[in-house]
Amino acid sequence: MRATTGRGFLFVPGPTNIPDRVQRAMVVAMEDHRSSKFPDLSTSVLSDLKKVFKTETGQVFIFPSSGTGAWEAALTNTLSPGDKVLASRFGQFSHLWIDMAQRLGFDVQILDVEWGEGVPVERTEEILRADTQHEIKGILACHNETATGVTSDIAALRKAMDDAAHPALLMVDAVSSLASIDFRMDEWRVDLAVSGSQKGLMLPAGLGILGVSPKALEATQSATSRRCYFDLADMIATNPGGYFPYTPALPMLYGLREALDIIFEEGLDEIFARHHYLAEGVRAAVTEGWQLELCAKEPKWYSDTVSAVMVPEHINGAHVIDVAFRRYNLALGAGLSKVAGKLFRIGHLGDLNELMLMGAIAGAEMAMLDVGIEVVPGSGVAAASNYWRSHDPVPKRRVSREEQFYEAHSTGSVQG
Ligand code: PLP
Repeated sequence: MRATTGRGFLFVPGPTNIPDRVQRAMVVAMEDHRSSKFPDLSTSVLSDLKKVFKTETGQVFIFPSSGTGAWEAALTNTLSPGDKVLASRFGQFSHLWIDMAQRLGFDVQILDVEWGEGVPVERTEEILRADTQHEIKGILACHNETATGVTSDIAALRKAMDDAAHPALLMVDAVSSLASIDFRMDEWRVDLAVSGSQKGLMLPAGLGILGVSPKALEATQSATSRRCYFDLADMIATNPGGYFPYTPALPMLYGLREALDIIFEEGLDEIFARHHYLAEGVRAAVTEGWQLELCAKEPKWYSDTVSAVMVPEHINGAHVIDVAFRRYNLALGAGLSKVAGKLFRIGHLGDLNELMLMGAIAGAEMAMLDVGIEVVPGSGVAAASNYWRSHDPVPKRRVSREEQFYEAHSTGSVQG
C-alpha cells in the first residue's frame, strides 16, 4: 500500500526537488512580455547564466523546450546536411543525441564504449589525427551520462583535440552536470554547451538552455541545416533588447531568477563540493554498506549527480523501483535501454542534503530487502552516516562573521 501522508521522496536524477523559494517565485500573474519592464528580468537571467556556464566570451540562449530542444539547436545551427560528426556512445542519453543527429541527416561516426565508461579520449585523438582533411565538423560528448552515472573528462577531450590540432566544434551535453559538477565553458573552449532547467538549476522541465561560443556563432553563418523554432538568428535579433522571438515561459524565468540567486548565495564551487560530498556518502552506502556495484566501472568515471546501482543478476531492478514507489513513496531512477532491469539510479543533485538522501538510501534498502536482495538491514545508512560524519561538506567553506564570532568565543581567544 502506498504511503499517502508526508512528503514524497523524489530521487530521480531530474526533475529534481524544487526549493520552496523557487516554487513561490513562479507563482506570478502573467505579464506582457513586450513591456518596457520585461527586459529587466530577461537580461538579468541571460547574463547570469553565463556565470553558471563559466563563460565570458560565449552567449547563452533560452528556449521554451526541454534539454532535447537545446540538443537540436546545437546541431542545426552549426552544421549542414551530411556533415560528419564524431560521437561516443555509452548510455541512453549519448545514444539519443546520436540518434537525433542521424535523424537530422548528419553523418555520425559512432564510437561505441562499454556502458559504465565515458568519452574515450585516446581513441578520439587517434581518429582526429587520422582525419587530416578535417572532415569531422563536430564532436559530441556527454559530460554526465545520466543513464549510467558516468562523468567524462571534458578538459582532457579538449586537450586531445588541441594535440591533434583539429578544428571541429566541441559540443557538450551538460544537461545533468551544469550547476552541480564543475563545468568550464571558456577554459575548455566548449563551443556548444547544452543544458536544461530540471536538474542542477532546480526548476521544472521546460527550458532548453544553450551556451554558444564565438566560434560556434560564426559557424551559424554558413550552416545550412533547416531550422526555424530553434534558429539562433531569431534569438540574436531579439535577445539583446531583452525580448524573445516568441512568447517566453514567464513563470519559468521568474523561477530561474530565484534559482540563480540561490546558486550564487551558496557559491558555484561550494555547490560542486557539496555534490561531491553527498555523492561520496551515497557511494559508501552502495559499495561499503550494501556491498553492491556501481555501473560506473572505475572511480574516475563516478558521477557526483547520479549513482546507478547494479542489482544482483536474479533480480529485476524495475521491481525494486516499483516497490520503492508504491510502498514507500520514493521515486528512484529506472534502468534505461541496455541496462533496463539491471540497475536502479539514485539522483543526488540539486536542492538536497544528507538527511534527505538518508531517506532515499533507507527507502532503497527497504525496497531491496522486500524483493529479496540480501543486503544487511541498516548497512547503507550506516556507511553513508560514517562518511558524512567524518567529512567536511565544503572543505573550502567561507567562514561567516557569525561563525568567526562563535569560534573566537569558544576557543577563548576573545575574553569577557
Ligand atoms: N542529456 C542528458 C544527459 C539527460 O540526462 C537528459 C534527460 O534526462 C537529456 C539529455 C534530455 O533532456 P530533456 O529530457 O530535458 O529533453
